[in-house]
Amino acid sequence: MDRPPTATTTAAPAAGGSLSLPARAPVLVAGEELPVDSWSPVVNPARTGELVGEVAMGGAENVDRAVAVAHAAFRGWAATPPAARAERMAAAAAALAEHNGPLAELLTREQGKVLWETRLDVGGAGHILNWYTGVADVLAEDEVFRSDARGTIWTGRRPMGVTGVIVPWNSPVYLAFLGIAPALLAGNTVVVKPSELAPLALGEVLRIVAEHLPEGVLSVVPGGREAGAAIAGHRLVRKVFFTGSTSTGQAVMREAAGNLKNISLELGGNDPAIVLESARVDDALAEELVRSVYSASGQICFDVKRVYVHRAHHAEFLERFTAAADRLVVGNGLDPRATMGPVSNRAQFDKVSGLIERTRASGATVRTVGTKLDPGSWDEGLFLLPSVVSDVDPRAEIVTDEQFGPVVPVLPFADDDEAVALANDTEFGLAASVWSADREHALAVARRIESGTVFLNVHRYGASDVSMPFGGVKGSGIGRGHGLAALHACTELQTVADYVDVSAFPGPDNR
Ligand code: NAD
Repeated sequence: MDRPPTATTTAAPAAGGSLSLPARAPVLVAGEELPVDSWSPVVNPARTGELVGEVAMGGAENVDRAVAVAHAAFRGWAATPPAARAERMAAAAAALAEHNGPLAELLTREQGKVLWETRLDVGGAGHILNWYTGVADVLAEDEVFRSDARGTIWTGRRPMGVTGVIVPWNSPVYLAFLGIAPALLAGNTVVVKPSELAPLALGEVLRIVAEHLPEGVLSVVPGGREAGAAIAGHRLVRKVFFTGSTSTGQAVMREAAGNLKNISLELGGNDPAIVLESARVDDALAEELVRSVYSASGQICFDVKRVYVHRAHHAEFLERFTAAADRLVVGNGLDPRATMGPVSNRAQFDKVSGLIERTRASGATVRTVGTKLDPGSWDEGLFLLPSVVSDVDPRAEIVTDEQFGPVVPVLPFADDDEAVALANDTEFGLAASVWSADREHALAVARRIESGTVFLNVHRYGASDVSMPFGGVKGSGIGRGHGLAALHACTELQTVADYVDVSAFPGPDNR
């Protein structure tokens, strides 16, 4: 299927920007491009013969330089008042708004998602920057913790230092800024490591944002494992925001141990959706769950990965859900008729295709539905139609692993206890959802689920906004991102104690 990629002749539209293809994602430190040992091609998953651009494969030397520059810029940025930091971030967000259209197209070409999804991803950078500028006051002054005749004790949030932000390929811009924006507002300087699989739109966004910040405050070192490990292991990096798979998160933890780095790990998920006996199972519910499962071709960390349905509804739900999935139109994300794009890269395509084949071979029922938008060019891309799996063992790999693709198992349960036990029988714990027409029933079940977030009657884009704490339990991560939780996660709480009377303190004369 793969031919050697050729550069596309189509330039990205000029509306509001001047991007042209093929694009480049260089190592960019203090506004300067650094040389690298090698570049890697970035191909369009909807047409794997099309070269969208090239990515610099940054190495340890590049990371060393970026970190040294960020370290040198740290004192000045940390000493800049939060309101002034916020002003620069707001200016960067305004500049980005002019480029959203072309950047979203670039992201669709390199990553595959349909355009409305990439607009959300790219637009997320400005949205998140603006949200954090609105909370700069939180950092403006220390809080009085206690004040009495003994003296006054304050607490204040201090920046940590150089912060590494390591990003996956699935929602590269949005996820990067969930780390970058709070880190910058807090007064940290930042080195970003985009995934080598989707570095182009993020690289452009970072170039624009860095132009609005003092030199060295924001650098970018694209690349693969080598660059990521160099950041996670660097002795001058004090904090790492990592988003990616659980196994890489474990590697980051080991790498970061050398200088006891503070780490935030946003890792994989195997989100269950539980449709209770008290749910109203109709087409609206089935449509909503189809969105929850197949957004971005199932490649969102908190897409639903397993559906458990009370046995009274299981057969009806399966029919309605499969019919709703059948209405998905799979094709090139640039075509507005496509409602689902390709799988994002060859490794993920092979992983998900293999999983579907093995599931079918195991005797489970796999119904592959949906429409091919352009059957003639289907084999030129990494396209998979949506699949629905039933009659499957609850311990089958399609149920227990994070599939991260457009296939989902639908399993029955007998009662609430069994639903909770099945949902919690996993090493993951990112998000979950409970579906019911009875709010109290849903709440009671939700509170028993082992996951960082539980949604009621929804589980998709928009349900977890930037202000709301988000993160995983168990193998899905450490720490909470979004909102003030992320600001707290990239600051140290310092206590300043000013005692005027120490006479009551313990000592040999005063026990
Ligand atoms: P990945 O773990 O393969 O890679 C993530 C990033 O880590 C990439 O930039 C990669 O180059 C880098 N990396 C690789 N080895 C490294 C090492 N040893 N040290 C430091 N960095 C290293 O993940 P992926 O395949 O890019 O993304 C998909 C995964 O991300 C899925 O598991 C998904 O659930 C997860 N994810 C989680 C969230 C969340 O918020 N919890 C959000 C999005 C994606």
